[in-house]
Amino acid sequence: MDDSAFPIAILGAGPVGQALALMLARVMDDPSRIALIQGAPPARAAETASPPPTGPGATAGAEARVLALNHGSLVLLETLGARPPGAAPIHTIHVSQRGRLGHAVIRHTDFQVPQLGAVAPYPAVREALARAVGQSGITVLHAHGSRVAARDHEGVVVRAADGRETRCAVAVVSDGAATGQLRREYGQDAVLTAVRAARPRPGWAYERFTREGPLALLPHPAGDDCYAVVWCCAPAHAAELAKLDAAAFSRAVSSAFGDRLGPLTCIADRHVSSLFMSMRRTQVDGRVVAIGNAAQTLHPVAGQGLNLGLRDAASLAQSLAPWLRDPTGDPGVTLRAFAGARRGDRWLTTALTDLLPRVFTTGLAPVEHACGLALLALDLAAPLRAPLARHLLQGWRA
Ligand SMILES: Cc1cc2nc3c(=O)[nH]c(=O)nc-3n(C[C@H](O)[C@H](O)[C@H](O)COP(=O)(O)OP(=O)(O)OC[C@H]3O[C@@H](n4cnc5c(N)ncnc54)[C@H](O)[C@@H]3O)c2cc1C
Repeated sequence: MDDSAFPIAILGAGPVGQALALMLARVMDDPSRIALIQGAPPARAAETASPPPTGPGATAGAEARVLALNHGSLVLLETLGARPPGAAPIHTIHVSQRGRLGHAVIRHTDFQVPQLGAVAPYPAVREALARAVGQSGITVLHAHGSRVAARDHEGVVVRAADGRETRCAVAVVSDGAATGQLRREYGQDAVLTAVRAARPRPGWAYERFTREGPLALLPHPAGDDCYAVVWCCAPAHAAELAKLDAAAFSRAVSSAFGDRLGPLTCIADRHVSSLFMSMRRTQVDGRVVAIGNAAQTLHPVAGQGLNLGLRDAASLAQSLAPWLRDPTGDPGVTLRAFAGARRGDRWLTTALTDLLPRVFTTGLAPVEHACGLALLALDLAAPLRAPLARHLLQGWRA
């Protein structure tokens, strides 16, 4: 590695890439030796010091997504000085199946944690991290359309669309691009919006499985009576739901969700996001490492994608710390050990989020009945519930 090269370049400054950069900055004497490559200049640089938008409808397009951060992710973001302000706490999760008996309730008191998690808009998570990155001394490069262009046994060249090159010893791809060898189309799109509930239960999150896919209502930071909606259903149905006027959509979502929170009133724009799973067989290819959505893009059921990506970042930072003290050596052993350490968590989380949205949609009465019984069993038997909930809260531990 020559002196002008960075020991490490992170390609993609989404939540996972930024979190990794911040974790590495804590173990490196000189954080300016970390290159964090952003796809485009920040559109609202002047606004990054102001509070992020939290009202329903304040964001647009893919930015309309809200993220349920589990307890482990909240602790990590807090440590990095990047906990999103105003995130709505989740104390209880209610899981049910439309048209069938049986439900499961998971409470924060079962796990002796102050809350199971919290919900924040995607831009609020990204901006909280960006503020911390801005104060960290990390080198942020604005290089649109960057990609790994060349690699050999000494390092990697990342090239931007305008031809500018960044040389590094290790390149981490965190651009969110779903280029995995394993892929599944779910035949489901997600309708994203927000509703106000007539009989809210602050701190309760709901996952309700319907024959077309899961319908989630998550506490929304905009208010105690506001819920973010992630309604996964057949693409044609999603397109119809997106076109309805607000009153008709309110009736449709109230009917699909049931009466637990009273009538629901739609209070935000609707956005449709197509759903699929994409997974790379391995995260490491020579000196190039993929983390976050670039390594595995998941169905949003149970809100696991970012939580898993942050665990990728934490594990990679921990693995690389000793090598970064002398980055002239070969990082091969370190990177292979990282890939091995991550295998169980990423395959188990991917398998869970791949199975859940499909098993409830078979339309077969015996399967639906079995799912209902499984939910009932989970509710009644804490020893059954605990491992599943613990995995969703903290990830897989070897
Ligand atoms: C509907 C929906 C709901 C979800 N809900 C949850 C949830 O509740 N909880 C949860 O944990 N997860 C959830 N997820 C998943 C979560 O959004 C992702 O897992 C998470 O955003 C992944 O972060 P990332 O940083 O890996 O990728 P991204 O968020 O995709 O960020 C990648 C970044 O890289 C940049 N980039 C792209 N190409 C380039 C390039 N060539 N050069 C430089 N930069 C580039 C992009 O502009 C972007 O800033 C949800 C997903 C969906 C679709």
